[in-house]
Amino acid sequence: MNRHDRWPSHPTSLHEWQLARLRSYLSTTVLPFSAHYRALFDKEHVAPAMLRCLDDLRRIPFTSKSDFLPGTDGADPVRDFVLKPDRAVLSRRPATLLRVLLHGRAAVSESFEQEFRPLLLTSTTGRSAVPIPFLFTAHDLDNLRLAGARIMRVCAAEREMRMMNLFPFAPHLAFWLTHYASLGFGVFMLGTGGGKAMGTDGNLRLIRKIKPDVLIGMPTFLYHVLNELAHERFPLPSLRKIVLGGEKAPSGMRRKLRALARELGAEHVDVLRTYGFTEAKMAWAECPFHEDAGSAGYHIHPDLALIEIVDPKTGEPRGEGEPGEIVFTPLDARGSVVLRYRTGDCIDGGLFHEPCPFCGRHVPRLMGEISRSSEVRDLQFGKLKGTLVDFNHLEHILDNAEHIGTWQLEIRKRNDDPLEVDELVLHVTKTDSTDNDHLHAALDARFVSEMEIHLNRIEVHSTEELRERQGVGTQLKEQRVVDHRPAAEKGVTHA
Ligand SMILES: [Zn+2]
Repeated sequence: MNRHDRWPSHPTSLHEWQLARLRSYLSTTVLPFSAHYRALFDKEHVAPAMLRCLDDLRRIPFTSKSDFLPGTDGADPVRDFVLKPDRAVLSRRPATLLRVLLHGRAAVSESFEQEFRPLLLTSTTGRSAVPIPFLFTAHDLDNLRLAGARIMRVCAAEREMRMMNLFPFAPHLAFWLTHYASLGFGVFMLGTGGGKAMGTDGNLRLIRKIKPDVLIGMPTFLYHVLNELAHERFPLPSLRKIVLGGEKAPSGMRRKLRALARELGAEHVDVLRTYGFTEAKMAWAECPFHEDAGSAGYHIHPDLALIEIVDPKTGEPRGEGEPGEIVFTPLDARGSVVLRYRTGDCIDGGLFHEPCPFCGRHVPRLMGEISRSSEVRDLQFGKLKGTLVDFNHLEHILDNAEHIGTWQLEIRKRNDDPLEVDELVLHVTKTDSTDNDHLHAALDARFVSEMEIHLNRIEVHSTEELRERQGVGTQLKEQRVVDHRPAAEKGVTHA
């Protein structure tokens, strides 16, 4: 395993190096032990040796969420993605023969345990779908620790800092990655388990006690927590970094968090984003940057992950810096393994290989805003035909809007009549005394000019009311979009 962050700096050499790594990983580890990919490579007549350039990756068919769904025969395909070692095959690996000679059979047998026995499970959050479990072996936990420590370094963390992990305690990647990142980097980390485990009050109590330098969690929950501290006028000048994960964090949300931190007496706070997903079993972070200079992008670990950007409709590869869907292939995973996994996440700035202008690291960087194609919904504003509405864009508008704090968008049937048309109702807290009608008119004008849809109504709430609506402290994820239409009408669709 590469523990030294060493890889070629030139993009062409880096690609060759990653492809060589992929060929070796496929032939020694994935194809011998993955039922799914052994069958798929046989069917497609693909062999690792054929993968000589990036374009050759197209020979490997994509894997997507639908490949994990149970069949009508009750078979659970998720199991076929888990590497199941075969001792006879393992003993024929050239590295195995050498290790037996050097260390003896018992040590080699133990190393197979480390490499292949599943020890930890995290699953997808599945707001609309069944949760999909992903398994980690000891080998994966070493990589999780390594990837986590790199996130700490990219975020310019220091070992003297006191950190708090406010992600929900659950079998989800965000909490565990943060936990292993602190072990890997060697820094104090207090995991509160988030709102569901301790309530907002429990989190506030620990923040007042620890006076952390770094807060890590979901943007909406951190916003609530900092807002409470600002109301109490509790000073938190120690705060230097807010690290966000688990959901999108557009620039408007980051600006609001920075403003709240300033209210708490923390003058220079880096608000940093991370991007990860269950299937990757890791995440990547942005390095600190100045808001006016723009983002430096998510820094990818090139020895652990090969990222491609493809056209979301045709699946054709996109060039350097072109927008498209993020496709992920691991280069050193055990346990559950997916190849060329289509995330359904689109990045508007694409992938860049130039060194980072802020930290100088030679790593591929995912640039810009990420949106989920599953957040395009079919709404019936008229009786005749539906309208596809991109909620990523709506959320972006709302997070950047002035005068409002937190918000929730509700989709409902007019008069709760299932035969009626759909309505969009916005629930908000206000940050100033702007007149409600004025606020509605301004937001509606933006919805119309950018999305060609109307906002039917705005309802203004107190912080407590909205917190209850969003399920802060009771749900694993704060509910920013709720669909109160009858189940059959919930047109969640892929763009
Ligand atoms: Zn950087």
